[in-house]
Amino acid sequence: EEPPAEAAVPQAGQDGLVLLRRVGRVDPASLDDYRAEGGYTALRRAFAIGPAAVIREVIDAGLVGRGGAAFPTGRKWDATARQPDHPHYLVCNADESEPGTFKDRVIMEGDPYALVEAMTIAGYATGCRKGYLYIRGEYPRALARLSHAIATARARGLLGDDIMGQGFSFDIEIRRGAGAYICGEETAIFNSIEGRRGEPRSKPPFPVEKGLFGKPTVVNNVETLVNVLPILEHGAQAYAAIGTGSSTGTKLFCVSGTVRRPGVYELPFGATLRELLTLAGGTFEGRTLRAVLLGGAAGAFVRPDELDIPLTFEGTRAAGATLGSGVVLVLDDTVDLAGILVRIAEFFRDESCGQCVPCRVGTVRQEEALIRLSRRPASPSADLTLLREVGRAMRDASICGLGQTAWNAVESAIDRLGVFAETEAP
Ligand code: NAD
Ligand code: SF4
Repeated sequence: EEPPAEAAVPQAGQDGLVLLRRVGRVDPASLDDYRAEGGYTALRRAFAIGPAAVIREVIDAGLVGRGGAAFPTGRKWDATARQPDHPHYLVCNADESEPGTFKDRVIMEGDPYALVEAMTIAGYATGCRKGYLYIRGEYPRALARLSHAIATARARGLLGDDIMGQGFSFDIEIRRGAGAYICGEETAIFNSIEGRRGEPRSKPPFPVEKGLFGKPTVVNNVETLVNVLPILEHGAQAYAAIGTGSSTGTKLFCVSGTVRRPGVYELPFGATLRELLTLAGGTFEGRTLRAVLLGGAAGAFVRPDELDIPLTFEGTRAAGATLGSGVVLVLDDTVDLAGILVRIAEFFRDESCGQCVPCRVGTVRQEEALIRLSRRPASPSADLTLLREVGRAMRDASICGLGQTAWNAVESAIDRLGVFAETEAP
């Protein structure tokens, strides 16, 4: 059996945490514990100020999406709320499946009522009466805890009709994924909920206009949603004072790989990669750092001389990397980098839904070329050229993010780390 959520949080129970403050401190099954630790004060404030003011708070707080793409949450909520077509739907994307990402799991297992409350606030602000929680099939404990939390909240008048006697009705239905990475793509989630093949749709139209069942839909990641609680509890100004001007609040980082204390760390935006790695205990005795993969399989490798990169959306972008969903995969000098690239390519080839040619064919060609290169051929340049051509085609012509980013990490390993350079023709 998997270890519980708190085991994945080396800081569990420490002071100063915002999103993880209850993890390891409360019984995740107890609504009374949740309320005793500040639960449902945010929803009460939302009812007091009304839906438009809630959206204003989220905009003023500068909250952006934590699933990976960093789109402004308040803008998404506002666009959905304004749609004349009804009903509106809320979808919480809990299909956390980016390799190396396990932060949403910690929230769902350790503080499930926080997500229930945050979804209720999002539904209230955007005019939804129904929310779907689309949860990764490989998270049985999170599923069990959320099912219990939803049933308890419903029994106590915190979901269903006339919540807290405020005349607002909202309920949450859980849908479980079945192991397909592509079903974490927001429009593939719609297809999956509607009972179709889990294939992405072309965007635009964006979900805020035409989403689930063709209706205006707001889709938010788990971590994004729970950020709304401190925004409403302490106000947008206090929230925006944390972090930097363009990356406000705190972020959950998923540290894994050859590092002493792997786990989920919560830090204010603006801490450096070096500070995060120090918190995680650094590399093992006698080992040296070779690279860090930031942002996951769709992200970029950074070198040991780049550890002063500030962990902000703008800072990582300026450094040619990305924060993505908060993946920090540490690789020391024992790691076979070429093997890692082949594994990443295999993952994308396996998970491509096959709907569009650049990705369906490109991910196969990419994996084949990397397998050949990993065998250290005498003349690698033809395969390196092929990789660049295929990578460009996938990036420019794929329908969804999977194909568009399937070459990112490989490209950065070649260009920034010099993988295969020693075999490259002069
Ligand atoms: P995207 O940039 O297309 O969209 C981001 C969000 O903003 C979406 O909800 C989209 O609907 C919305 N949006 C964008 N433009 C809009 C507009 N003009 N009007 C209204 N809404 C608009 O990105 P994406 O393809 O949804 O997501 C890609 C990201 O997902 C990558 O950063 C990747 O790292 C991440 N990802 C995360 C996981 C995970 O497990 N957390 C898994 C796979 C991928
Ligand atoms: Fe499917 Fe890949 Fe095309 Fe996305 S880019 S729709 S995963 S084939």
